[in-house]
Amino acid sequence: MNFRKADILGIEVASLTMQEAVAEAEKFMDGTAPRLIATANAEMIMRATHDDELKNILNTADLVVPDGAGTVWASNYLGIEMPERVAGFDLVQNLFANAPAKKRRIFFFGSAPGVAEKAKAKAEKDFPGIQIVGVRDGYFKPEDELAIIEQIKKAQPDLLLAALGVPKQEKWLKAHMEEIGCPLSIGVGGTFDVMAGVMKRAPLWMQKAKLEWLFRGMLQPKRIGRLMALPRFVFAVKAYKKMVNKKALNG
Ligand code: UDP
Repeated sequence: MNFRKADILGIEVASLTMQEAVAEAEKFMDGTAPRLIATANAEMIMRATHDDELKNILNTADLVVPDGAGTVWASNYLGIEMPERVAGFDLVQNLFANAPAKKRRIFFFGSAPGVAEKAKAKAEKDFPGIQIVGVRDGYFKPEDELAIIEQIKKAQPDLLLAALGVPKQEKWLKAHMEEIGCPLSIGVGGTFDVMAGVMKRAPLWMQKAKLEWLFRGMLQPKRIGRLMALPRFVFAVKAYKKMVNKKALNG
């Protein structure tokens, strides 16, 4: 489907509901062409402003969903209404819920050794009948790459989830998705860590108050520097709006 898109700092993000995102992902999995969904939060968009490879991957992805309160705010501020936040974690949980009935085959690639296995056990407990057809941790040397690609190909997944962090996961998927031939790939960041209980998600009240980013920053002090991406993002979006308006005025 052709969703309306918000141009946030040069990145095109679809304006859609979670339900629409799930339907689109299911449609991709029903097809055969390899598709890529990216989940764009403020940090990813900021990074893309100075990483042309990432920017190009996002702007050629089959779908970019608004992951995070920052992205939703920016879109609304720039005049494209975002119905809601489509967090990567929630999107894949919805796909897991549909997976047993649709007989989807899912591959978990990424995170520290042992984490994807734990996430697999959690998915099997939460979604009886789900088929996680392979796992592989995300710490590898370049010479291991061929074997990883072979392992994924052999497992013949319909859905490949890669948790290597941003932008490594997007770059890895873009580089190898054609060869792997999995109908749908998604970069999922800390999803396996949360499922495995290695990392906590913010309490619901904080998610609702749009403060999940603050919770993460508090929990992982080494990320405090990354938190600065948020005020910089707000500043950049405000400047961007001025620039776009000026351009429109000057024709
Ligand atoms: N990760 C990985 N290989 C790497 C770097 C990171 O598998 O070379 C995993 C890491 O263990 C974590 C996930 O990628 O499970 C997301 O990492 P992080 O939270 O740093 O990234 P974000 O998506 O928040 O940018």
